[in-house]
Amino acid sequence: MLLNGTETDVLIIGAGVVGSALARELSRYQLRVLLVEKEVDVAFGTSKANSGIVHSGIHDHPGTLKAKLCVEGNRLYPQMAEELNVLYKQNGTLVVARDASECEMLGQLVNQGLLNGVSGVQVLGREELHRLEPNLNPDLAGGLLVPSGGIVIPFDLVYALVENAVANGVQLAVSTEVWQIRWEGGQFIVETNRGMVKTKYIVNAAGLGAAKVAGMIGDESFTIYARKGEEYLLDRRLEGYIQRTVFPLPTPESKGILIIPTVEGNIMLGPTAHRVDSFHDFSTSAAGWDEIFRFTQRLVPGLQASDVITSFSGLRAAGDTGDFIIRPSELNTHFIHVAGIESPGLTAAPAIARYVVELLEDAGLRMTAKRFFNPYRLVVRIRDLSLEDRDRLAVKCPAYANIVCRCEMVSEGEIRDAVRRGATTLDGVKLRTRSGMGRCQGGFCSPMVMRILMEELGLKPEEVTKNGPDSPLLFGNLRDNPSCPEKD
Ligand SMILES: Cc1cc2nc3c(=O)[nH]c(=O)nc-3n(C[C@H](O)[C@H](O)[C@H](O)COP(=O)(O)OP(=O)(O)OC[C@H]3O[C@@H](n4cnc5c(N)ncnc54)[C@H](O)[C@@H]3O)c2cc1C
Repeated sequence: MLLNGTETDVLIIGAGVVGSALARELSRYQLRVLLVEKEVDVAFGTSKANSGIVHSGIHDHPGTLKAKLCVEGNRLYPQMAEELNVLYKQNGTLVVARDASECEMLGQLVNQGLLNGVSGVQVLGREELHRLEPNLNPDLAGGLLVPSGGIVIPFDLVYALVENAVANGVQLAVSTEVWQIRWEGGQFIVETNRGMVKTKYIVNAAGLGAAKVAGMIGDESFTIYARKGEEYLLDRRLEGYIQRTVFPLPTPESKGILIIPTVEGNIMLGPTAHRVDSFHDFSTSAAGWDEIFRFTQRLVPGLQASDVITSFSGLRAAGDTGDFIIRPSELNTHFIHVAGIESPGLTAAPAIARYVVELLEDAGLRMTAKRFFNPYRLVVRIRDLSLEDRDRLAVKCPAYANIVCRCEMVSEGEIRDAVRRGATTLDGVKLRTRSGMGRCQGGFCSPMVMRILMEELGLKPEEVTKNGPDSPLLFGNLRDNPSCPEKD
């Protein structure tokens, strides 16, 4: 898609959870909004590789934007998740103390939570803690329960936000990288690899690329560095083994290494928090695993290394102020920075979106609410349906009865839906449907998903990629017949 000649009111750079939440928020108003993303799909930055926790707000320093927007974001989640049919659960946050001195430190977190406006915080003694989570180490001395803490599938949320924004009129352009920006005649002229766009306002939600994008208007007021977090996912056989998200006492660098039940019934261990020089270093390491496993096993002794089914890492885009950097540029008030969005950015995203709408309004953008804004998104997940509903659906559309991913129970119908909803790669389908996320990690379903991608998008076998142009899945001596790769 060429963008030459496109004129918009607001250009959002970056389709992570922040840019996508803002796109949806702006789609409530009579505005022309363009959301651009340099990757081949949305949610391919930090927003796809994180812990998926909807934080309660007890961890952030009172008075910071992080604290304010985390607590507000947390409150917005239940309604947003319901409207968008997103996988979210309020499972509760549990901070555990290993001994009497750590129990005393819990008091500081309680006070911080109160100052931040977190409600319902309960201090737990040893017995109560173990009654709630019997698989915790019996030596743990006590804890804190914050019922408002939750979990979400982060990429599922981004897809839902974007789909809903697009359904309400936002224009999305993936594989579109902003290269240069200049201010001319009261508007920005933005050069991308897909042509030139004119826009009245820009929101810089470019994650790790935010300082580079700011530099395009000569704004060098902040720097971004990367702090890596490794995460390890355990088999679903452990579903229910730990129900609440378990935190140790925080460290100065992070909230610590956690035990995170996922909405889909896995348990995840992580993340580490180490500064790295490269914005492209997504490796995991034996040292990272060792750090995580040794730490979490002290909290939950029953954890076993043999339950790990996969690992990944994400890069926090940390700013140099210790807080989110959300403000108009000092060089041009029509250019709003939303930078340094490290944790709790996933939680805060819906509140950040509302805050940025206010900043845009303050900067002179007229906001007139649309008469018809549809807040809902529907998506079929057959594993969540009753047997009767599955039968009814299969009669109407037999593709929903053909199970492609056996580990995660994903049907051909859902995979075709995912491609029609925007997936163009194997990872795009995987993140939208969970196909390939189970114990066999795509060993069984990948060839069938590739065939569906070829059929739906008219691709040749060598054009099917894992996550974009640099990741072909098939090469060498391929047959001409673009039928099922699994038959070759
Ligand atoms: C290991 C880890 C665990 C975390 N856990 C949690 C958690 O449990 N809870 C929580 O609340 N937060 C958590 N976070 C933080 C959270 O993931 C981030 O705050 C959030 O994802 C940031 O979203 P974003 O939209 O700002 O950035 P991104 O998702 O990185 O999106 C920015 C996008 O901009 C695009 N872009 C960059 N430059 C350009 C350009 N020039 N042109 C076009 N597009 C461009 C990028 O490709 C990218 O897709 C965690 C982070 C990490 C790394």
